[in-house]
Amino acid sequence: MKQIYNFSAGPAVLPKEVLQRAQAEMLDWHGSGMSVMEMSHRGKEFTSILEKTEADFRTLLNVPSQYKVLFLQGGAIAENAMIPLNLLNGKSADYVVTGAWSKRSVEDARAYGEIRIAATSEASSFTEVPSFDTWQLNQDAAYVHICTNETINGVEFDGIPNTHGVPIVADMSSHILSRPVDVSRYGVIYGGAQKNIGPAGLCIVVVHEGLLNQASPLTPAVFSWKTQADNQSMINTPPTYSIYIAGLVFEWLLAQGGVAAIEQKNIAKANLLYNYLDGSDFYYNNIQVANRSRMNIPFRLRNEQLNDAFLKGAEAQGLLQLKGHRMVGGMRASIYNAMPIEGVQALIAYMTEFAKHNA
Ligand code: PMP
Repeated sequence: MKQIYNFSAGPAVLPKEVLQRAQAEMLDWHGSGMSVMEMSHRGKEFTSILEKTEADFRTLLNVPSQYKVLFLQGGAIAENAMIPLNLLNGKSADYVVTGAWSKRSVEDARAYGEIRIAATSEASSFTEVPSFDTWQLNQDAAYVHICTNETINGVEFDGIPNTHGVPIVADMSSHILSRPVDVSRYGVIYGGAQKNIGPAGLCIVVVHEGLLNQASPLTPAVFSWKTQADNQSMINTPPTYSIYIAGLVFEWLLAQGGVAAIEQKNIAKANLLYNYLDGSDFYYNNIQVANRSRMNIPFRLRNEQLNDAFLKGAEAQGLLQLKGHRMVGGMRASIYNAMPIEGVQALIAYMTEFAKHNA
C-alpha cells in the first residue's frame, strides 16, 4: 500500500494500529462470533466495551468523579443547541467568538435565549484570542461559552480566564486529548469524535453533575444531559461502532503514555512546522504566536496563483487534504494525535522543494 499522510481536518487520520485491530476483530469480537456492529447495545459484550471506553477516557483526561461522561450523537453542532436548552434556564449566556466555530455556536444558541458576545476577535480576522482582561463577562450569566481550538482558523487557547464561578462551556472538538486539561475548571466540555477520538457519529459531553437540573422542558430526551446521564447514554441506541473505535483509540493513547506524553509529541510536530513557516519567505502563518493551534495549522503561499500547483504536487507525493477551509482559503495542515512526526517532515520536505522550484 502506498504511504500517504492525511492532513484532513476531520474526519481525520486514525492510528494505523487501531485500524488493524478493528480489522482483526471485525468478524468476531473477542470470541463472541459477532462484529461489534451486530451486537445489542444492551448486551454484556457491548456493555463491557462502553464501560471500558468511559473508564479509559476518564483516566486519559483525569475526569473528576463529579462529572458525567456522555456518549451522544448529533455532533458538536447539535450541542450548540443543546447547551442553551440544558443550561440557560431563563438566564443569559456569554459567548466569546474566536473563529468560525464559536461564531456558529452563537448563531445556533440565539434561538433559545439572550446570548451576549463577551469578546470577539472578528475585527482582526480571528488571528488571536482576545486578551482575557477585555472580556465583558456578566456575573449573572448561566455560562460562558468558548471554543478552545478553532479548527478552521487555527487559533488555540493558551489557558482560560477566571470567570468567578460562572461555568465555562468549551467546544474542544478539534484538540480534546491532545494536551492535559484541568477538567475541574470547566462546567461542560464537549467535542465531536472525528478528529482526535474516532469516527464521526459520536459526540462526547463531559458535564458537572451540578449542572444537570436546569434543562428547559423543551429539551429532547436524547439530548437531555440529565436523562442521558441517568441512563448510561442509552436512552436511545448509541453509536456503538464509533464508541468501540473510540475505545481502541483510547487504549492506543494510553499505550503512548497518555495525554501528557502525546502533548510532547504534538508540541514537537507543531514547532517543526511553525519554525519552518516562520523561516520561509515563500509561505506564512499569521496567527498570534501564543494562540497558534498545535492541531490545525493554516498557512498561505505568498503567491496564491501557485495554490493549485502546490496542492496537485502534494497529492502526487501522498500528502493529502491540505486545502484550507473554503471560508479562509489557503492551506491547512491538521496534525492530530495520530499524525506521526514523519508526516510533518514529509510535508516540510515537499514544501521546501516546491518553494525552490517556484521561487
Ligand atoms: N466545533 C468545532 C471546533 C469543529 O471543528 C467542528 C467540526 N469541524 C464542529 C464544531 C462541528 O462538528 P460536527 O460536524 O461534528 O457537528
